Amino acid sequence: MEPPKLWREKRERYLAIGVQCTECGHKNFPSTQLCLNCGGSKLTEYKLAEFGEIISFTMITQTAPEMEKYLPYAIALIKLDDGVKITAQVIDVDYDKIKEGMKVRMVFRILSIDGNEGLIRYGFKFIPC
Ligand SMILES: [Zn+2]
Repeated sequence: MEPPKLWREKRERYLAIGVQCTECGHKNFPSTQLCLNCGGSKLTEYKLAEFGEIISFTMITQTAPEMEKYLPYAIALIKLDDGVKITAQVIDVDYDKIKEGMKVRMVFRILSIDGNEGLIRYGFKFIPC
């Protein structure tokens, strides 16, 4: 058995990995087999930047049953410091204060728990920083 901390770090590293094209330098996330920019196949893994800023956001007030307990919540398009744009939930934020340009930091949290199987899905979310 691996120590839980090591296992968690491994999982987090896996979730925040994209691939960078060695031909054109484009960063692809999530990982792809071919570069989305130039179609090149020489790709190396890189870890996403931890910090970024909100480009735009939407408040979600209706969702699938397994996400209902999180309502309402904010989904934002975030530009990371490495230039990669991703969509993710913003948590631990006063929803009156959330705004474009807000600096945020990536954290790892439970995304959902499957009620029938008790399956826990992890992923990244963002908090203000
Ligand atoms: Zn490329």
